[in-house]
Amino acid sequence: MKEMPNVLWLEEIKKEDIISVGGKGASLGEMTAIGLPVPKAFVVTAQAFRKFLVETGIEDTLFRRLERLDVDDNGALESVSRDVQDLVLAVGIPDHIKAEVVDAYARMGANGTVVAVRSSATAEDLPEASFAGQQETFLNILGDDALLDAVQRCWASLYGARAIYYRAKQGFDDRSVNIAVVVQELIRSEKSGVMFTSHPVTGEPLTIVEGSWGLGEAVVSGSVSPDNYVFDLRSERVVDRLIAEKEIMIVPEGKHGTKIVELSAKERTAPVLTDAEVARLAMLGKIAEDHYGIPQDIEWAIVGDDVFILQSRPITTIRRPEIPRAGAEAAGQQKNTPLGVVLLEGQGASPGIASGRVVIVRDVKETSAVKDGDILVTKMTNPDMVPAMRRVSAIITDEGGMTCHAAIVSRELGTPAVVGTKKATKILNDGQIVTVDGEKGTIYEGAVEAPTAAAPAAVTAAAPAPVITGTLVKVNVSLPEAAQRAAATGADGVGLLRIEHLILGLSKTPGWYIEHDEEETFIAELYTGIKTVLDAFPGKPVWVRTLDAPTDEFRNMEGGEDEPLEHNPMLGWRGIRRDLQSPGQFRLQVEAFKRLWAAGYDNLGVMFPMVNHPREFIKARAMMAEWGVDVETATLGVMIEIPSSAILVEDFIKAGIRFASFGTNDLIQYTLAIDRNNENVADMYEPEHPAVLRLIDYAIQTCRAHGVECSICGQAGSDPKMVTWLVEHGISSVSANIDAIPRIREAVARKERQILLDAARRNA
Ligand code: PEP
Ligand code: MG
Repeated sequence: MKEMPNVLWLEEIKKEDIISVGGKGASLGEMTAIGLPVPKAFVVTAQAFRKFLVETGIEDTLFRRLERLDVDDNGALESVSRDVQDLVLAVGIPDHIKAEVVDAYARMGANGTVVAVRSSATAEDLPEASFAGQQETFLNILGDDALLDAVQRCWASLYGARAIYYRAKQGFDDRSVNIAVVVQELIRSEKSGVMFTSHPVTGEPLTIVEGSWGLGEAVVSGSVSPDNYVFDLRSERVVDRLIAEKEIMIVPEGKHGTKIVELSAKERTAPVLTDAEVARLAMLGKIAEDHYGIPQDIEWAIVGDDVFILQSRPITTIRRPEIPRAGAEAAGQQKNTPLGVVLLEGQGASPGIASGRVVIVRDVKETSAVKDGDILVTKMTNPDMVPAMRRVSAIITDEGGMTCHAAIVSRELGTPAVVGTKKATKILNDGQIVTVDGEKGTIYEGAVEAPTAAAPAAVTAAAPAPVITGTLVKVNVSLPEAAQRAAATGADGVGLLRIEHLILGLSKTPGWYIEHDEEETFIAELYTGIKTVLDAFPGKPVWVRTLDAPTDEFRNMEGGEDEPLEHNPMLGWRGIRRDLQSPGQFRLQVEAFKRLWAAGYDNLGVMFPMVNHPREFIKARAMMAEWGVDVETATLGVMIEIPSSAILVEDFIKAGIRFASFGTNDLIQYTLAIDRNNENVADMYEPEHPAVLRLIDYAIQTCRAHGVECSICGQAGSDPKMVTWLVEHGISSVSANIDAIPRIREAVARKERQILLDAARRNA
C-alpha cells in the first residue's frame, strides 16, 4: 500500500485499482480507457487518506471509538459520528499530500478549474454493496483552499452516522473501508440525469434514461421527478417516454456550491431529451455495459452538443428471471383481472407486492410511528429513514426516479417500492389499507390478493386447488356434527377436539356415570363422538383434549350438585389437575382412547390441558400406562396455557411430550391477570402483549430446537396477524376455527412465501 501514489489521473487507473481509488474512481478510469467521454479528473487515493490518518496520529482513537459503538443506539451513533468527523476535520492535511493535490489541480487548467469533489468509498468486496449516497459530494469548487477543504470533508463523511450504520448492517469492518476522492472538472450541464443500461428490475435489454434540467444532483437526490425514456436496444428505438413535471433545477452558484432554481411553466413540461440524444446516451451505456459485462447505472450530462459520462457502477440488484416472466400474455391477462381500484401510479422501483397500513411520514421524527409491515409513504426517503424502511412491507414516495434513495435502498432491502407518484402523501391517508405492486408501480385500494401465474379460469366450476403450506393448518372442533364441515376446509388435521362439549351435551357429569354404574355408556358416548371426528380426517392427526370443564360448568348438570363452590373457577379444579385427582373420571376417557387406538385410529393424539408442571404430564402418562396404554408409541402432548408451562417447556420435552399447543385464551388471561370472561377488563385482554409473545416465542424456539411439534389452538390462532407472527417465529402448525381456515391458510402461505423470498434475496 505504501508505494501507491497519493494522486492518480484517470488515464492511469484500471479497474483493478479499486482499493486505491474506490468504485467510482476505478470505474471512471476504466471508462476513460475505453474511450467514453469522461470529464477530466484525478483521484486523491485511499492511500493518501490512510497516510493522513496515520501521520496526524488520529487513527487509533478513531477506530477505537467506532469499535465500541452500538449502531442501533441512535443517540450513541449520532454522537460518535460527530466526534469522529470532528477528529478528521480538526487536524491538518500533511504538507506533502497537500502539495500533490494542489499540483494536480494546477495541471487541470491554467486559471483554476471549477471542479466537483466526490467521495469514492472503497472496500475489499465493494461490488457486493452499494455505498451510493453514503458519503459527501461537493460541487462547484474553485481554488486550492476550497479544494483541500472539500477533500477533507469527503474524508470525514466516511464517518457520517448513516454511513457507519449502513456499513455495520452490511457487515463491513470500518478498518477495512477507506475513502478516495475524485476531483473532476465540473460540467455545467444544461441537462443531466441517470440511465440504467438494462431494465433495473427485469434485466431486459431496455435502457432506462432519466433526465432533468441542470445538474444531475436533482435526479440522484430525488428532488425532482425526472422525465423517463425507455430505449429498446433491440429495435434501437425510444419505445416509451414519460414527460414529468419538473419543478426545479439545480445549478452551480457563484464560486461555490449550488442553488435551486424554480423552472418556468414551459420548462417544467418540456421534454428534456430528444430521441437522438436518448439514442446517443443508450449507445454509450451499451459500450459501458459490454465492457464491464454487467448492466450499469450511469450518470450523464449534456452541454450543448457534448455528452459526458460522469460515473458508472454496476446495478447490484437486477433480478434474474428466476420466475420465468409469463411475459406479455400474463401481463395482458392481469389487466383484465379486476385487481381493485387503482389509487395511484408511479414508477415500480423495487419488485414485490405487499399490502398494509399506510403511515405517512413527513419528518424523520415521525418514523417511530412506523410499525412492522406498514406501508411507508413519504415525499422522499432519506438515509435517516433506513431503520424504518427495514421494518415496512413497502415504500411509496411522491418524488424520485429509479435511482433515487428510496429506489436504491428498497431494492437492496428487497422491499417493494413505488417512487415518483407525485401525490402519495396528499392522496393516501394514515391507516388506510393499500396494496403496493413494486414491479408495475401501482397502488391499489385495500389488501389485494396477488394474482397467481395461472389465472383460475374455471373458478365457478371447481373449488380452488388447496394451498399447500409448510406450516400445517389444522382446525378446531368441539362438536362431532361439525366434523364434516371442518374436514371440508381441507385442514391438515384437528389441532384441538374439546371433549367437554361432547360431555356437557350429555347432560350428566362423568361422576354421575361412575356413581350409577353407567361407565360403559359414558365410554361409548365418548368413543362415538371422537370416532366421528377421526373418520372425517383419515390419515390426518387429530388431537383430542382430555376433559377441561371448570366446576361452574358442571354444576347445572345432573350429578353437578356436589361440585365444589369455587371463588374463582378459572383458577380452580379443572383440566389435568382434576383428572389426576379423579382417576375414575380420567380412566373412562383413557378407556375410550384405548379402544380407538385398538380400532386402528393411530392418527389420534391426546392432549392434556392446564398443565403447569412436567410432573403432571409424567403422572398422567404413568396412569395411562398402568391402564394398558403403550405410552411409548402413543402421541401424547400438552397445552401451553399457563406461563409456567411455557417457561418449563424444555422440562416437558425432556419428560417426553410429543407436541405442545398454545391455548392462548388462557395463556393470555394467566399471563396478564385479565379474566377472559370479564368485560370490565376486556379492553386489557391483549393477545399481542409483549410478555405473551415472549413466552410463545421462547416455547416455539425451544420446541424447534428439540424437534417437537409446536402448535396453537387458542383463538389467536384464528387471527391472521397473529398467525403471520407465529409463522415468522417458526411455529410448526396452527389450528383455527372452521370459518377462519381460508384466511389463516392465506396468511400462512403469504408469510411462508415472504420468508422464502427473503432467503432467496439474501442468498442472491
Ligand atoms: C385456550 O385456552 O386457548 C384453549 C384453547 O382452551 P379453552 O378455550 O378451551 O380454555
Ligand atoms: Mg384453555
